[in-house]
Amino acid sequence: MKKMTITSGQMRIDDVAKLRHRCAWDGCTATTPVSQNLPRDWRWLIMGWWPSGGFGIDKAERDCVLCGPHARQLDAQLIDIGNRMREPKGSA
Ligand SMILES: [Zn+2]
Repeated sequence: MKKMTITSGQMRIDDVAKLRHRCAWDGCTATTPVSQNLPRDWRWLIMGWWPSGGFGIDKAERDCVLCGPHARQLDAQLIDIGNRMREPKGSA
């Protein structure tokens, strides 16, 4: 397992503008600026435990982005659950 060191401190605003999201797919080097919207085909990948009736993920084990090709590759590996989350119809 890879270990990450997290430090705290302040960043200059022009250094923040240089930050980039990096695709979390192992071996992929695609990046996109943090200061702009994600490209239309990139996706956030958030994996964690969501308490029933809760208002957010209690503990996210993954909070990252995937570039377009890898987002499509991951989606192709998952079972089809329809478009319930993408195109809500009627009232819940
Ligand atoms: Zn990628």
